[in-house]
Amino acid sequence: MDGPSGTGKSSVSRRLATRLNARYLDTGAMYRVATLRVLRAGIELTDTAAIAAAVKELPLTIGTDPSREVILLDDVDVSSEIRGDAVTKAVSAVSAVSEVRDLLVALQRDITSTTQRIVVEGRDIGTVVLRDADAKIYLTASAEARAERRNQQNIREGRGDDFEAVLADVQRRDNLDSTRKVSPLRPAEDAVLVDTSEMNMDEVIDELFRVVRQQVSTSRTGGAQ
Ligand code: C5P
Repeated sequence: MDGPSGTGKSSVSRRLATRLNARYLDTGAMYRVATLRVLRAGIELTDTAAIAAAVKELPLTIGTDPSREVILLDDVDVSSEIRGDAVTKAVSAVSAVSEVRDLLVALQRDITSTTQRIVVEGRDIGTVVLRDADAKIYLTASAEARAERRNQQNIREGRGDDFEAVLADVQRRDNLDSTRKVSPLRPAEDAVLVDTSEMNMDEVIDELFRVVRQQVSTSRTGGAQ
């Protein structure tokens, strides 16, 4: 499951995994943990060599149970800290460093190789990490729809109401993620595009469940209809 931020990808992936009786891996959380480590070490975001060195041995633990989030750095729960502003602002820069990607992609392949059935969520899963996945989905929504959802979430969680600022941030991250040299965000050729702009959560889950079943049955029968 790939796509830009703000499409509801995380909640959707988690719920889809539960419905498919599958495990769930949030690869964005892994890039966020790497970023937290870089920030804690006081490294400049332009110093790619220092970033690469800081994440070389990353004491990261990530769970794959869709009903229970486990994200540890040095055995300490960082699940809420990695969603904070500081990490969110810096994560695009850290995830553009190729050594960081190599390391985390290897870890993602490791985790998924021992799992029969797993929904993996990120930006480059269908294009790089798991090119042979049985089903590939690219979740999209207009920048305005995504900013509106994030802004509503900010209001609910007491972080204020500023649609224009949120929209600018969504566009800035889209731009960084899709223009970077290493693994830019784009749909895999064999991914099914699902636009969630006009859909509610239940509609999205139903549609994805249908798409996954169809893709899996097509891939198991070698493409025969
Ligand atoms: O999904 P989430 O918004 O938590 O991801 C945070 C950031 O991590 C993204 O904006 C992107 O820069 C990076 N990322 C990535 N590749 C992935 C998952 C996330 O580069 N597979």
